[in-house]
Amino acid sequence: MINGAAPKQNHIHGNDWERDKIADKCLCGQMPGEIFPTIFKVIRDQNPDAVIDCVYDWDGFARLANTESMNVSINASGEYDACSQACRLIAKDKPDFLFVHFDHVDHAGHAYGHFTEEYYQSIRLADSLTGVIISALKGAGIFEETYLLITADHGGTHKGHGGATQREMQIPWLMMGKGVRKNFTIKQRIRQFDTAPTLAKILNLKTPDCWIGKPALSIFE
Ligand SMILES: [Zn+2]
Repeated sequence: MINGAAPKQNHIHGNDWERDKIADKCLCGQMPGEIFPTIFKVIRDQNPDAVIDCVYDWDGFARLANTESMNVSINASGEYDACSQACRLIAKDKPDFLFVHFDHVDHAGHAYGHFTEEYYQSIRLADSLTGVIISALKGAGIFEETYLLITADHGGTHKGHGGATQREMQIPWLMMGKGVRKNFTIKQRIRQFDTAPTLAKILNLKTPDCWIGKPALSIFE
């Protein structure tokens, strides 16, 4: 999602991956042990003055991202905290790029099972928290110029995920912003690793040669 490539390229094959797994490797022209470049680093390298903020609820996220490229990186405690931290940063920083992660939908999938009433309830909560963030963008006067991408890193089946079934691998992918088609259902296949290249395209950034994802061009007018 954030590094435009698949496990074959970034060497991240599961949740047990830690940075020491690549301690002696040079990936994508980076220094030995440096992680595969993420959208955070791509923005920072080409935009030294950009305000790049990140709020994540899953503790494991930081090791996967170039936190050194961020102005602010916050490990939130729960979805309500993630939402209010995001709103605070929007008001304070008017960030050029803000990544917000909610973990409670994943928790509901594990606790009650995916596609259960409780699971859909957790998605409704994510929807209302997203509404709160949109209100914050409007309050900061930057909603009209903001692009909003809403996606997930996996689906699920029963009380787990990680397998190769459609229900586990299919993700939502929604986008809005200037020049993005309205009332349009994306027909092309979008892969997880097309997410970062699409963001780079919007931000007018060059992407690393080792990114295999492609921008989702059909979403644009
Ligand atoms: Zn999970």
